[in-house]
Formats: sequence, structure tokens, C-alpha cells
Amino acid sequence: MTHTDTQDFALRFEPLPASLAAHATRTFVDEDGGLPLRCCLRDSRPGERVALAGVTPDGPQGAYRETGPVFLHAAGCSGPAHQGYPEDFRRRTQVFRAYNHAGVIVGGAVAPPGSGQEEVAGRLLADTDVAFLQTRNVVFGCYMLTIRREPQETPTA
Ligand SMILES: [Zn+2]
Repeated sequence: MTHTDTQDFALRFEPLPASLAAHATRTFVDEDGGLPLRCCLRDSRPGERVALAGVTPDGPQGAYRETGPVFLHAAGCSGPAHQGYPEDFRRRTQVFRAYNHAGVIVGGAVAPPGSGQEEVAGRLLADTDVAFLQTRNVVFGCYMLTIRREPQETPTA
């Protein structure tokens, strides 16, 4: 484990492209709202048209690549309105999985609901062997977003 002395990096929170909705198995009008949209990193609002799609997020390699269900805007969107950790997602317990530069999982931590998500991410990413994090819901295991150090390092794949 190689750690930097201080956190001398910012965090970048990456959404999925809404174009992945093209792979949707189902689209529907979300009457109630509150579904986590991975394209703009906020919860859906009542009446929005939403797609349920099986996606394989970039980053993990080989056997570590996983396909799973996510909600996206069905007809595209302009992405997140804010740069930071998604406020709408703070109430959900997450596991932050850490992957190395070869796309292999090397660790992780549970981030409880609240305001400490950046601290958990910063601690994991202080290890320079860690290339990026993927956050997932604890019970359903669904992918939520990717977190990287800013500026982004040169991709390895
Ligand atoms: Zn969206």
C-alpha cells in the first residue's frame, strides 16, 4: 500500500452516459419519483420517463467486469447539474469498491448515509495503487457511480 502524505487531489464523480438507455429492457413513466438516475446522478422526479437497462460500467477488467441493472433517463439528458457527490444519493448506504490500475478489485469500505462519502472516498484513493472506486448499493448491489482522483490519470486500458 502506497499512501500520499496528505490528500492532494480532488474527487471526480462520474455518471454513466444516458445513451446506454438504448440497451433498456424496459422504459416507463416513473409516477412516484425517487429512482437513482446514473446519467445525471440524482433521483428521478415524478412523471419523468425512465429506462431500466443492464449495463457493464467501464473500469473493472476481465472477470471483474460486472453487468447489472441501472435506471437512466429514457430519452437522454445533459448529465449532472453539480460536480460533487450526489446529494440525492447520500441517504443510501453504499459500498465503495476500490480497483487497481489493472481493473482488479483490491479493497473497499462501506459509506453509511450522511455526509461522509467524500472522506471515505478520499481515504481509499489516497492509496496510489487504487485507480478508481465504484459505488454500489449494499442490499441490491446495483452500480451507482465511479469516483476518481482529479486530474484523471492516464487510462491503463
Ligand atoms: Zn439523466
